[in-house]
Amino acid sequence: MSQKPVLRFAPSPTGMLHIGGARTALFNWLYARHSGGTFLLRIEDTDRERSTPEAVQAILNGMTWMGLNWDGEVTYQFARATRHREVAEKLLAEGKAYRCYATAEELTQMREEQKAAGKPMRYDGRWRDRLAGPAEAGKPSVVRLKARQTGETIVHDVVLGDVRFENAQLDDMVLLRSDGTPTYMLAVVVDDADMGVTHVIRGADHLNNAARQLQLIEAMGAAVPVYGHLPLINGPDGAKLSKRHGALAVEAYQGMGYLPETMRNYLLRLGWSHGDDEIISTAQAIEWFNFESIGKSAARMDYKKLDNLNGHYIRETADATLAAEVIAFLARETPPRILSMTARERLQSAMPSLKERAKTLIELIQGAEFLFTDGPRTLDAAAEKLLTLEGRASLAAVMPALEATDWTGPALEAAARAFAEGTGVKLGQVAQPLRAALTGKASSPPLFEMLALLGREESLIRLRAYAS
Ligand code: GLU
Repeated sequence: MSQKPVLRFAPSPTGMLHIGGARTALFNWLYARHSGGTFLLRIEDTDRERSTPEAVQAILNGMTWMGLNWDGEVTYQFARATRHREVAEKLLAEGKAYRCYATAEELTQMREEQKAAGKPMRYDGRWRDRLAGPAEAGKPSVVRLKARQTGETIVHDVVLGDVRFENAQLDDMVLLRSDGTPTYMLAVVVDDADMGVTHVIRGADHLNNAARQLQLIEAMGAAVPVYGHLPLINGPDGAKLSKRHGALAVEAYQGMGYLPETMRNYLLRLGWSHGDDEIISTAQAIEWFNFESIGKSAARMDYKKLDNLNGHYIRETADATLAAEVIAFLARETPPRILSMTARERLQSAMPSLKERAKTLIELIQGAEFLFTDGPRTLDAAAEKLLTLEGRASLAAVMPALEATDWTGPALEAAARAFAEGTGVKLGQVAQPLRAALTGKASSPPLFEMLALLGREESLIRLRAYAS
């Protein structure tokens, strides 16, 4: 019977869920969903000084927003410290680990001597084969793994291929600190083994850890997982991705009005490919996802591509769903903006045009502002230019023709056209001042539709405010 894959995302809650972490989570999630396996979430909160409840919440929120649902309960690593200690004690009892009584001063001296001699600085195994004597009684000690000193450890990596490490280069790592707390390396390996993790897919910054973790796995007699280390994400200029390139936190992308579908598609393509396909729905991604097509070199952020994809998914989203997203987005602002019933109805009716011209929810909202409140508009600079003395006069002149007609899009347009023809001007010359007064902007969804949508009374209030 072949075992179903078990994948996990194991973030350390020391900050926001950032783009790189979200991509790691996505790849694990996709493979779990692709293979009918399990996707687990483990919060690695062993570093008590740097882990915060806010960061845990930010990670859970980010995952939820991205739609990366995990199976079962979240595992909190710190709560498992007793179990980690138990494994270290067992290795100690089996002679696969040993107590090291070297003091901090001794280790500093050791490193200084190594440095002076031009040798790599690593623990020299001074307690590996030495038994504690009466002098050590009551003295603090750490527990170290008795790792192989010869031969090599090979990480068979599904992304990078076989990566070899000389065992002579890896020193005996600490499993338990002198205060009895487990190290991160011990905790990761014990948790992966206990959680039945079959595939460890994570950032390439953990590749070196994999070699050491394999030594520990071997000592424990645990099953070796499949490893995959994902190349880094760089900025558009090829330098390591940093704040100066753009936002790093997933939450920031939510705040800028990107959709979760966009983020899934974008992050998937950031390091994974399927021919030349750029637009890949989540359902399609689940069907196609594999490890073979993960790129071996660092991916580059492309913010323009992200915007274009978001425009695509905005247009793809059903009007009512998108209106609900916009309403929720506004409610999250500080202070929250709560739309009236009228505003909600207008928003949804105008959605087919609004979504054509927006790359983010923020752009969509900016384009929809004129629907949210009643009364004369405040003009932006471009609208101001349209409502010169001449523009205001044109507005005053066309108003009687509009007032005399049925208040529907086609009838209003016909009236405006007839007026323009009658006075020998282009429709645009009549329409632009109308648009500026109605929306406060120089561009908007189709004017006559918007006049109809806002209704006779509200439209005339807005137009009169600038007609003279
Ligand atoms: N907690 C580690 C991190 O956030 C990941 C450990 C792992 O995936 O093995 O970088």
